[in-house]
Amino acid sequence: MNGHFAAVGDAPTTAQYGHGVQVIDEDKEFKCVRQRPSTPTAASLLTLCATACSSNLSSYLVATDVADAGFNYHIISVFGSQSTGKSTLLNNLFGTDFNVMSETERRQTTKGIWMSKNKTAAMTDNILVMDVEGTDGRERGEDQDFERKSALFALATSEVLIVNIWEHQVGLYQGANMGLLKTVFEVNLQLFLKDKQSNPRSLLFFVIRDHIGNTPLANLRNTLIQDLTKIWSSISKPQGLESSRIEDYFDFAFAALPHKILQPEKFVDEVKSLGKRFVAGSRNSKAQLGHGKQELEGGLFLPEYHRRIPADGFSVYAEGVWDQIVNNKDLDLPTQQELLAQFRCDEISREVLISFDIAIGPLEEQQAEASRIGKPLVLANLGETGKQTREKCVKAFEVQAGRYHKAVYARKRTELEGKIDQRLRALYQGQLTAAHKSGVASFSDAVSGAVKAGQKSGAAYEFAEIVGTQKTKCLDQFKTEVQSLTIPEVAWTNFGSQLALFEKELDEASARLRKEEMRRLATRVERWDLGEVVQGPEEGEKPPTEKDLWDRIWNVFTSIVKEAETRFTDRAKSFEASEAEVEVGLWRLRRKSWVALRERVDEEVMEGNILLKLRENFEDKFRYDEAGVPRIWRPVDDIEGIYTRARESTLTLIPLLSRFRLSATYGPPDLPSFIGHQPAGAEPEDEDDLTPIGGVDEEEGKSLEEEMTVLSEGKRQDLVVRFKKMADGVYVEAKRSAIGGVAQ
Ligand code: GDP
Ligand code: MG
Repeated sequence: MNGHFAAVGDAPTTAQYGHGVQVIDEDKEFKCVRQRPSTPTAASLLTLCATACSSNLSSYLVATDVADAGFNYHIISVFGSQSTGKSTLLNNLFGTDFNVMSETERRQTTKGIWMSKNKTAAMTDNILVMDVEGTDGRERGEDQDFERKSALFALATSEVLIVNIWEHQVGLYQGANMGLLKTVFEVNLQLFLKDKQSNPRSLLFFVIRDHIGNTPLANLRNTLIQDLTKIWSSISKPQGLESSRIEDYFDFAFAALPHKILQPEKFVDEVKSLGKRFVAGSRNSKAQLGHGKQELEGGLFLPEYHRRIPADGFSVYAEGVWDQIVNNKDLDLPTQQELLAQFRCDEISREVLISFDIAIGPLEEQQAEASRIGKPLVLANLGETGKQTREKCVKAFEVQAGRYHKAVYARKRTELEGKIDQRLRALYQGQLTAAHKSGVASFSDAVSGAVKAGQKSGAAYEFAEIVGTQKTKCLDQFKTEVQSLTIPEVAWTNFGSQLALFEKELDEASARLRKEEMRRLATRVERWDLGEVVQGPEEGEKPPTEKDLWDRIWNVFTSIVKEAETRFTDRAKSFEASEAEVEVGLWRLRRKSWVALRERVDEEVMEGNILLKLRENFEDKFRYDEAGVPRIWRPVDDIEGIYTRARESTLTLIPLLSRFRLSATYGPPDLPSFIGHQPAGAEPEDEDDLTPIGGVDEEEGKSLEEEMTVLSEGKRQDLVVRFKKMADGVYVEAKRSAIGGVAQ
């Protein structure tokens, strides 16, 4: 028998299923392609499921395109005594090729339970026919066990049970057929005791064979009904179902066929017209048989007969049911259906997650890689991809799993959504983090770039305007990303708080940039103006007397700084700096200006420069008379006297130049109050690039006196010595020229 099957592991083909598929073999085993433990130890369906996928049945349903049919399929089983032409009937009705006893051998042919898909075109889609091994066959002797088990299996799965019976058996109440029906009724009660809420009905379809025609079908039908009623009343009913009636569970239909061998043509015709009844029927085509029983006329498939097992779960369900039956467990169909739902929902969920993985996995990898190398990556079209993938996956799950047990489906759907959302959520968070980082960076870059371009071009640029434009641009970009990631019906995709955070950070970046801009401004102001402070007087201006040298420098310095302060304040206000920020800026401006002035002063008194200045001063006094006329030395002149006066007068300049002192107080200017206290708003970073100032920055340990010291004591003495040497040289030269003049 197994010769019909390909070797283990071979892919199923339709060709190998010429005779259909063996579901249960003669050893009461559920047929599997793969070997599985001979004695199933685990009772639950779930443990069976590991092997279920490789069952003959599941491959067969795939090969015959039934697996995808959802609920659009039907299952029919046949019952009856051994060798009553059951297989012959099925083959003729459904175009199947179940094994039939050869005319010559006369031994049992059909073993276990076989299934084949209807091959005739006239009927409804996807009819699956189960040929059940005949009962009371000589091979099985009095063993009623298989009969009972196969009846239970057929009832748990089939919508229509064909009862095949010889005409001459009708009315033989004690006959083998009646024993079979008794079994069917008993197991039916056992089965549906547990399944009160769904209470599925089945159709018992009596096909009377070798109908000679003397007794009309109506009479045969009445006899059968009487017998059925008798059988029903004779069976012991479980507690709670004592008063149940046969019509609570079964509808009836009847047909008679002529003798196949004696009237072969008539047989074929009748079978053909019988076949027309294997289509959808309606409740309205039920006729009263009396005593509440109903006969179904017309189409045989009523929706209420369907067991509501989705086709793609049927083989797993059938295996679970058989496992319970064969191990004499209480067959609890609702539990089986729930277990099936769990198993199938998990399986479908896994399949759906694979397709999710294919779409989303590469994006996750790109993001992980980008974050590993620390480069923020904003994935293109992530929102659209994520939304579509999520929708597609949930929809695919809904279509397939939605047919299973409602509560289980709902729970598994939530689980699936949880898994999908967990991954999408991580991806979306990463996306927003990247968008945030790159957004803030490009904002800063754009502002700095625009400022630099403005400075380069020399044209006036509005800092506040630049900031405003760039902020709107970056914010819009981020908003677009946030919106694209939002799925209205999914709460966690509301990223309002991230948007707020981004805006806040842009504002912080603006503040930072404004501060930088203020510093730049302070530096520019200081560079523009301080050059002129230590320059000599403008032409036409009265030359400063030596005494008010420092007064003049201080006055020019402070007035220039005041002007710079005004300009700074105006400019800072134009880019919306706060009062506190302006105050800090001014404080920095004053400090920087002072330090710059101090540097210029140092430059002026550098050795060469100061010596040159002293020489000029000395020569002015020595070589020119009071009226400013150059002297021509004569021997009578008091060269020595003039020299001494000029030298002494110049020497008095040295202490004067050595210290920054105002003439009024003969003390240093009040630098600390000019610069002022460090404003409260100034932050530590404001001081980083500030040169300490003596007397202002107390903790620096340098006094105001030291700050105002232009020439140190050592330098002064050194200067005196060098100046004197130089003056001596000039004196000697003058002396020589006086004598020489006489000699000429
Ligand atoms: P099964 O064991 O019930 O499946 O019976 P089979 O289909 O294998 O047929 C058993 C024997 O009955 C075969 O030799 C058939 O030729 C024969 N047979 C089939 N149909 C009829 C029929 O309608 N009338 C009679 N008298 N014999 C039939
Ligand atoms: Mg047979």
